[in-house]
Amino acid sequence: MLRNLLLASGAVSIIACSNSTTPDATAAEQSETAEVRKEIFSEKLGEGLYLLTGPGGNIGVSIGDDGVFVIDDKFDRFADQIIGEIASLTDQPIRYVINTHYHGDHTGANAEMKQVGATIVAHDNVRSRMGMTFENLQWGRTIEATDPSKWPTLTFSDKMTFHFNGQTVKAVHVPSAHTDGDTIIHFKEANLVHMGDNYFNGMFPYVDVDGGGTLQGMIAAQSKVIEHSDENTQIIPGHGPMANREDLIQSRDILQTIHDRIKSEMAAGSSLDQMKTKKVLSDYNHLSGFIDEDGMVTIAFRSLGGKIKE
Ligand SMILES: [Zn+2]
Repeated sequence: MLRNLLLASGAVSIIACSNSTTPDATAAEQSETAEVRKEIFSEKLGEGLYLLTGPGGNIGVSIGDDGVFVIDDKFDRFADQIIGEIASLTDQPIRYVINTHYHGDHTGANAEMKQVGATIVAHDNVRSRMGMTFENLQWGRTIEATDPSKWPTLTFSDKMTFHFNGQTVKAVHVPSAHTDGDTIIHFKEANLVHMGDNYFNGMFPYVDVDGGGTLQGMIAAQSKVIEHSDENTQIIPGHGPMANREDLIQSRDILQTIHDRIKSEMAAGSSLDQMKTKKVLSDYNHLSGFIDEDGMVTIAFRSLGGKIKE
């Protein structure tokens, strides 16, 4: 989520600012601001399987005799905490980190992960996007290329399978979904799926249309997971709490309704501004968060070929 990145850097500059403008702050206050607050927490999901929560995308972790396998790594400012939290669970080295997509709240700690010996794996387009500077019209800002130290070094185009810690771990690319480089990871024996940002549990999803995503692709990705899961499947969303198949069906149905509604409005000749004024998604307002109602209308409209800038 890009805004989180902005908020995060904003928060840092506010702290820097307040330090320089309050020379009379007590020593105690100063030491409190200097202290690192614990923001990364682990939760056990099964034998050798963990969820790491905190700001940024949800992290999945597999720990066993073969070492540690990590899915996504949040923002770089949490690198030490993520590596420290994993070290509190095991002495084993981090062998692989797979990025579900290129966004900075899922790939931020890649460079630090490489430094501790991990191989960074992702879809081909994650590596190309991370090396690219391009415009994001949804936010009206330029997405800068990241430093090569963060780029994945092992990439694939369709799917790959890891045989690790006694699990068959399938990494499957879902096309034109949240971005153009998404991977869904399925731990077959554990019956657990990490969906990356193809699932925002309990809130409107962000679809990065400028990064090659479409709402239709996200719906298809969710349908695919629904098809391959059962009532006991544990589902890790990119953002939001843990979910099950029933939750995902509900999400998919809502997104399908939103898609169909915007499509028929467009067919009837409504402009983007008219749809926003009419509040065509007001019955889903409770899902507003990072993406609000207008943002969701814009995403569906653009996914269907609508242009916000000539
Ligand atoms: Zn994302």
